[in-house]
Amino acid sequence: MSRDHAVVVGCSFAGLGAARMLSELYTHVTVVERDELTQTWSPRRGVPQSPHVHGIPQLGRTLLAEILPGFVDRAKEHGAVMFDQLHDGASWGLYGWSARGRSRAVGFGVRRALLEHVAREMVLELPAVSVLHGRAEHLLASGDTVTGVRVRTTDDHLVDLAADLVVDASGKGTAAPGWLEREGFAIPQETTVNGFVGYASRWLEIPEDAWPGDYRFISQLPRPQWPRGGILYPQDNGLYVMSLFGHAHHYPPGEDGEFVDFLTGCATPLMHHVVSRAKPVSGISRSRSTANRRRHYERLDAVPAGFVAVGDALASFNPIFGQGISSGLKGATVLAETLRAADGDDAAVPARFYRDFTAWLDTPWNQAIGFDLAFSTTTGPRPDPTPERRAAARHADVLAQMSTVDHEVAGAVLFANQSFDPSLLRTPELLAAVERWVAEERSPAVSDPARPPVPVS
Ligand SMILES: Cc1cc2nc3c(=O)[nH]c(=O)nc-3n(C[C@H](O)[C@H](O)[C@H](O)COP(=O)(O)OP(=O)(O)OC[C@H]3O[C@@H](n4cnc5c(N)ncnc54)[C@H](O)[C@@H]3O)c2cc1C
Repeated sequence: MSRDHAVVVGCSFAGLGAARMLSELYTHVTVVERDELTQTWSPRRGVPQSPHVHGIPQLGRTLLAEILPGFVDRAKEHGAVMFDQLHDGASWGLYGWSARGRSRAVGFGVRRALLEHVAREMVLELPAVSVLHGRAEHLLASGDTVTGVRVRTTDDHLVDLAADLVVDASGKGTAAPGWLEREGFAIPQETTVNGFVGYASRWLEIPEDAWPGDYRFISQLPRPQWPRGGILYPQDNGLYVMSLFGHAHHYPPGEDGEFVDFLTGCATPLMHHVVSRAKPVSGISRSRSTANRRRHYERLDAVPAGFVAVGDALASFNPIFGQGISSGLKGATVLAETLRAADGDDAAVPARFYRDFTAWLDTPWNQAIGFDLAFSTTTGPRPDPTPERRAAARHADVLAQMSTVDHEVAGAVLFANQSFDPSLLRTPELLAAVERWVAEERSPAVSDPARPPVPVS
């Protein structure tokens, strides 16, 4: 089937992923972006989260490598560093330090703005893809079908772009539900689960002698018993980013001295030890844009034809697990698969896409809201504690205990989370190991917060 024109609103990760995938299926793809896209990789206004730590887990890296062959190598040429999170890092979990040793859990240390720059370069050099600089303001529609977008260009002209498909990749602040309503379509219900999480981040130069051990990455996520945490993460330019996390309204501060002091309230003193010896090389950026939010297009009785939402415009998460970019890319690939299987019925594609993709989204969504709902201060609907959910929570809890003594279990948990694949935690070997742990009434290792374990070689 020949398809002529697709319009993608938003030139960030979900938009770039969608443009790349649609370039195989449409003669032309126009990406509409309101920000100026510079040749450098400085943070830009439309992506205020850019200065904060951005981990790209296994799934995201695999998708980037698949849809943009050579992406990882290009990022490495710019200085992106890959490291074994478990062997080269110190991670404080629910029961103390993770055991350390070789694993498949790879960290990808790179500034988000650089990653986006490399992806943009690769997508915008595709012959079918072009950019229109301007702000999408409305949808065009006819009957039950979206037929295009009205754009106010940066030089203040109104342009109507007719399209066979409009993709909303304009991020969590999308105005598209309002645009749909204005054209007479029903709008999706929303679910919001808010853990009231704040981030504060800055880049640091860290002298070698500031590290008290052989690790070059430290992480401790907030938990109800210690709502302050953070990640100290290597970057492409030889620097480190320190992102402070405060859960349950414990928002981290934006002032110099207080930034370091915040770390004294963490479960481990290590981040404070290193950061107080480091030289700040940037200001402090803050974000509270961390609520989990889903727009349930899949529940609409009549899903508009000719329009789909992807990326944060469809579902956004508390970013602590670094799921946003991977989910946006996954949505772009599922959209392309749905179009390929359309068999001449493109009008049915949006409904089929939402049905299939939102089932997949349940995995990152449940992980993110499960984490947030452990705090009594979190607002939003709490899923009923079914026997299956209780059993899954118990399994995860035992694996967290085992992770303190067994680096292979710790590595398997990290890798499954990074792959968004909980089935990897239900292998016969892991199920048997969990059963043995419970039968033998074993306890987690006792951790010294100032001294992570040495890696098993
Ligand atoms: C503090 C913080 C830390 C994070 N850490 C991670 C992490 O470690 N790993 C991870 O994967 N994710 C992380 N995320 C989430 C990640 O940043 C987002 O999931 C991701 O950027 C979403 O991509 P997107 O393309 O859907 O939307 P966005 O990145 O929000 O981009 C939307 C684009 O649309 C453009 N736009 C908006 N409206 C219009 C319009 N009307 N017309 C034209 N253009 C428009 C914007 O300018 C922008 O370019 C983090 C988020 C936050 C807040």
